[in-house]
Amino acid sequence: MSPDIVIVGAGPAGLCLARTLSGHGLSIVVLERQAEQALAEPAFDGREIALTHGSQTLLERLGLWARLPSKEVAVLRDAQVFNGPSLFALKIRAEQAGAEHLGHLVANQAIRRTAYQAVSDCADVQLLCDASVRTIEQRAGEVKLVLHDGQVLQPRLLVAADSRFSETRRQLGIGAQLKDFGKSMLVCRMQHEREHQQIAWEWFGYGQTLALLPLNGRQSSTVLTLPPREIERLQKLDEASFAREMERRFERRLGAMQLVSSRHAYPLVGAYARRMVGHRCALLGDAAVGMHPVTAHGFNFGLIGVQLLSDALLATHGKRRDIGAPAPLARYERQLRLATWPLYQATNLLVELYTNDQLPARLLRGAGLRVAQGLLPLKKGIARHLTARA
Ligand SMILES: Cc1cc2nc3c(=O)[nH]c(=O)nc-3n(C[C@H](O)[C@H](O)[C@H](O)COP(=O)(O)OP(=O)(O)OC[C@H]3O[C@@H](n4cnc5c(N)ncnc54)[C@H](O)[C@@H]3O)c2cc1C
Repeated sequence: MSPDIVIVGAGPAGLCLARTLSGHGLSIVVLERQAEQALAEPAFDGREIALTHGSQTLLERLGLWARLPSKEVAVLRDAQVFNGPSLFALKIRAEQAGAEHLGHLVANQAIRRTAYQAVSDCADVQLLCDASVRTIEQRAGEVKLVLHDGQVLQPRLLVAADSRFSETRRQLGIGAQLKDFGKSMLVCRMQHEREHQQIAWEWFGYGQTLALLPLNGRQSSTVLTLPPREIERLQKLDEASFAREMERRFERRLGAMQLVSSRHAYPLVGAYARRMVGHRCALLGDAAVGMHPVTAHGFNFGLIGVQLLSDALLATHGKRRDIGAPAPLARYERQLRLATWPLYQATNLLVELYTNDQLPARLLRGAGLRVAQGLLPLKKGIARHLTARA
């Protein structure tokens, strides 16, 4: 088979790219190792994705946003950051950017489901599920994929969108700078007594990091970062004991709490690919930039990548030129790095500082928040970045 493009990985990034490229006279194959049923009805995975206004615009354009039932979309009005036991908070308000809210929260499960639905409508996109790549050969003028079932694909361009631990990236011989934070993140939905007022919390406690993402009603996604062994212990607790422990960890700032979903744990490993493109190939989504979730930018960056890559490919295709040629790929690489590298580095630095419990770091953390609280231009800048339309 010789499609124009093969995308490995039908995650949110791979599916959104396929949807964006559809309808322009290109034939696209999306290859996924999971069964099609798992894409059509994805299981709840605990991730609630904070989407910027720019991401919302792109999802609207792709027809995903309209498929999301309103009960699955929660408003993220403001955000606040706490340090240690102090009640002082750095506050980022939507109104600082002249907006009503900083963004929205949508479950990853819902994003995946609607992305699958949007792609299922595209006659020029073929989904190959239960499939995986055995070998990749890159020769002059072509790239050849041999699948485990023996099928051979020879596209003009291969896109790897198969997660931050991308096997395809590896098969292409592209390295990545991996940053293992040595911690795991536990995510689940909890009901609580007090209102969250649609405000997200990031709470850098001593010995733990907590976050709270406001959902609809008196429910939030709670996010707890701890060493893996402690996360395993918390996952095994019965529901009532787990709720009591979360109340204690949140210092009862939300009153009584109750677990209302399954619990999911993720190892905290950041990834930044050493190259974003190669001979007739490009990396996308977490396979290109796998962010620490603290700044809630992984999928937002994935969508920026979708936009940049599709712009470069469609402009080239429109001029009847080769979409796998070095020039459009080099442009994509340049723009993606520019858009992601500063925040990737800043996020890692923030995590280093705010998870360091040595006394000088604790003092610097508290002082940093107070200084930032007084810097209106900084807070306005963050609010504007989140609320800017694409
Ligand atoms: C706890 C948590 C909270 C997060 N919160 C936010 C947030 O608030 N905002 C935000 O923007 N981002 C957030 N993210 C990041 C976001 O979830 C990711 O950036 C996004 O899911 C990445 O999408 P992707 O399509 O690149 O990769 P993935 O979602 O990892 O999908 C990869 C796909 O490829 C398939 N695959 C893997 N290997 C192969 C293979 N060898 N062959 C074929 N198929 C393969 C997989 O089955 C999967 O379907 C969060 C992440 C976590 C863990």
